[in-house]
Amino acid sequence: MTGTIPRDHDERDHDEAAFPDDLIPWQRPLRAMFPIITGHPDLVYLDSAATAQKPQAVLQAVETYLTTANANAGRGTYPWANASTELVERTREQIKSFLSDPDPERSTVHFTSGTTEGLRTVAQDWLPAFLTDGDEIVVPFADHQANLIPWLDARKVLEAQGIGIRIRELPYQTSSGDYDPDALARAVGPRTRFVAATHVHHVYGADMNVQRIRAAVGPDVVICLDAAQSMGHLPVSVAGLDVDFVAFSGHKALALPGSGAVWARQTRGPRFVPGGWSGTPNTTGIASLAAALDWLREAGTDRIERWTTALALRLTDGLRHLGAYEILGCQRSLALDSRIQHRCGIVTFRHRGIGASDLGFILFSHGFMVRTDGHCQGSAGEKTSSVRVSTHVYNTPEEIDRLLAVLATLE
Ligand code: PMP
Repeated sequence: MTGTIPRDHDERDHDEAAFPDDLIPWQRPLRAMFPIITGHPDLVYLDSAATAQKPQAVLQAVETYLTTANANAGRGTYPWANASTELVERTREQIKSFLSDPDPERSTVHFTSGTTEGLRTVAQDWLPAFLTDGDEIVVPFADHQANLIPWLDARKVLEAQGIGIRIRELPYQTSSGDYDPDALARAVGPRTRFVAATHVHHVYGADMNVQRIRAAVGPDVVICLDAAQSMGHLPVSVAGLDVDFVAFSGHKALALPGSGAVWARQTRGPRFVPGGWSGTPNTTGIASLAAALDWLREAGTDRIERWTTALALRLTDGLRHLGAYEILGCQRSLALDSRIQHRCGIVTFRHRGIGASDLGFILFSHGFMVRTDGHCQGSAGEKTSSVRVSTHVYNTPEEIDRLLAVLATLE
């Protein structure tokens, strides 16, 4: 379905949202660990897909690092320099373990400023050496443009060298809003070498079911995953997903901005050795990432997923009863008992009469911080702006109910 968004308007009736009450005693103390949240009781932060708030443990880790061991990593031999070098190396191993890497001896972690730089690094420093004239790659056109533009740019670079590659669109299925493994299997040919996919869609909130891609493409195709919206929100297992690259942003996973990474399994194609001298590593960011991953492991990404999914269901369920709003993405996934698809803590909608940025201003006048615009979607994505509500572990069902109450007054 080239050029259209995943959508299906078959609505189904369903029961009222059943919230996982067993998680309430688990969530309450976790919320209390976010100083910016507890320090602003009149505000409601619902923009975690843009960037997440930081728990005290992350703030503390940054302060501890800066006040006890701040030095350049990989250069000096005095204790602070050694501590910084060890921090970088230890965090690499921690990321592998967080991603359930089954073969950490044969993988590498390259630190980046975030997902955008991670995907661009794969596209610039690895992909051109992997492809030859006539090869094909498959990429998403309605996901975040950070997962489209680098691949289009790589084609230009190769063209300039006289190497022609073909780019195909990773097919979506309108009935469920995720990727279509059957259409993908049909699109894959002997020259298909590479697939770029997204774990969780940043506008529709859909889990794109990337674990089905491997069976569709076979054992030799390299799969690169954009985990910007899944890292820290749900378990990300490179073993379970059977992917070769994972790029993510630390700032969306409770760490500081500028602290992302690319995990690379070094078993298919040439080795991933990012070129160029990258200079001083972001040790402060890496310290924050190490603390964030510890915090997330302790909290449990499986429980965070259940919590934020339940918040998203509560919101979609409420919005469905308000005629003035149109929820973007697959409509069948709105059914609470839906086995088709669920929303991973992200819900995007439009008001039929009020523009998205006006709605954003109105919502902030009630204390709600949400994202409003076109959300950086690729060329086949939404063309008009909308309001995105995105949650994390610190949000509560009461906040969603208060938001719905305000939205109801705008009917
Ligand atoms: N991919 C997806 C799915 C995203 O949601 C985002 C951020 N909105 C990015 C990539 C880019 O992430 P960053 O700006 O942290 O590089």
